[in-house]
Amino acid sequence: MRIFCASIATETNTFSPLRADLNDFKESFYAAPGEHPETPTLCSAVFPVCRRKAQEEGWELVEGTATWAEPGGIVNAKTWDSLREEVLDQLRSALPVDAVVLGLHGAMVAQNCQDCEGVLLEAVREIVGLDVVIGATLDPHSHLSQKRTKNADILVAFKEFPHTDFVECAEDCVDLVARTVRGEIFPELHVADCNMIEVLPTSREPMRSFVDKIKDLEGQKGILSVSVIHGFMAGDVPDMGTKILVVAEQAQDSAPSLAADLSQELFSFRGATRPEFLSPAEAVERAKAAESGPVVIADVWDNPGGGVPGDSTILLRTLVGQKAFDAAVGTIWDPMAVKTCISAGEGAKLKLRFGSKMSDTAGSPIDAEVTVLKIVLNATQDFGTSIVPLGDSVAIDYLGITVILNSNRSQSFDPSLFRNLGVDPQSKKILVIKSTNHFYDAFVPVASEILYASVDGPYPNDPRTTDYKFARTDIWPRTEEKIS
Ligand SMILES: [Zn+2]
Repeated sequence: MRIFCASIATETNTFSPLRADLNDFKESFYAAPGEHPETPTLCSAVFPVCRRKAQEEGWELVEGTATWAEPGGIVNAKTWDSLREEVLDQLRSALPVDAVVLGLHGAMVAQNCQDCEGVLLEAVREIVGLDVVIGATLDPHSHLSQKRTKNADILVAFKEFPHTDFVECAEDCVDLVARTVRGEIFPELHVADCNMIEVLPTSREPMRSFVDKIKDLEGQKGILSVSVIHGFMAGDVPDMGTKILVVAEQAQDSAPSLAADLSQELFSFRGATRPEFLSPAEAVERAKAAESGPVVIADVWDNPGGGVPGDSTILLRTLVGQKAFDAAVGTIWDPMAVKTCISAGEGAKLKLRFGSKMSDTAGSPIDAEVTVLKIVLNATQDFGTSIVPLGDSVAIDYLGITVILNSNRSQSFDPSLFRNLGVDPQSKKILVIKSTNHFYDAFVPVASEILYASVDGPYPNDPRTTDYKFARTDIWPRTEEKIS
């Protein structure tokens, strides 16, 4: 068996003030053919999985490029064209192959393309023809177009949010691809539209039980794989929305109705899947009133993992407004301010403008006299077993609040973010972090309580009022009706 694998992935927030080009991919993750590390990245776990399988089963593996850009704004047209053609050229020279396995995110939007993954899969199909098996992994925060389901034989999305199962997802995908090549299965894809867009964390009910249920369905009655495409509300594209994707054996009569039933059940969860979201003022009031600390306040929308800059000052200003000075904020993205603090040196007092430089919706910049507490070049934080770069970073004292400024955009994954900048997270009453849900497991052991704050900013956080130009507006919460 001869298999080609490649990965082009990012999550595009089409409302973000940022833009993404080749430098953003190269800075985040870029591995030329044969240079993929042994450890997987979120969207490239198909590489180590294919390598292992190739060794175990004597496959011939041809590796193409693997690249990932931190979630951000719309991708530069030339960057998309050149990355796509790079991978397609690699595929052409790898022919003949029995299968193509792609590690995709599924929410990449370029200036000249609203459905990058659909166009890529279509081009791959055109090159390899109908007899070659095409499989891909997806992040559930993706858009599922017909172009994708028409051109792929196997599509599998991560089931968990936080995405703790990305390696298992790659294993499932590669396994199904191999079984299809061997003629053991004849997969068909079935999609049911839930006609909604919602935030669907799986660490809590009702999604926890729903994910356990779809896992149990796999392997029974010809059902090969079940995925929930959560959708990504910050991507203004025609296919934005929540969908159920069932991969089943050919002519499995029950598969379309299973997809439809699951979509009905998921639709019934609308409005009930999120934790309680507080206003900034409520969150700080509650944190101040807590008997013990640290109370973690997650700024759920100013999350660089959702493609925004992560430089909002609104929660920090709320802390100051309520005199909640026993606090640390991790992080505010401001490379310019970081550079200035590094030039000033540890211990220096200086007048600094920091935060809120990329948009007019994330508060306003703070102008204040600050003290540089600590400088760390190439700072990092942990995320499970991986190390996430924060870039050059500084901790500053602003009115008694410790604020961490960083120069590589990253969401707050882990308390090591504070420790690595010289802040003992346990020593503060309040920790403000920027993440929607990926932070949860790592912060539970240190937090006395976790609060979620819904702070308006550049992230389009309310689909009822978002000014969509391309996404469907006849879905919940824009309309109450389920159309199917
Ligand atoms: Zn995701």
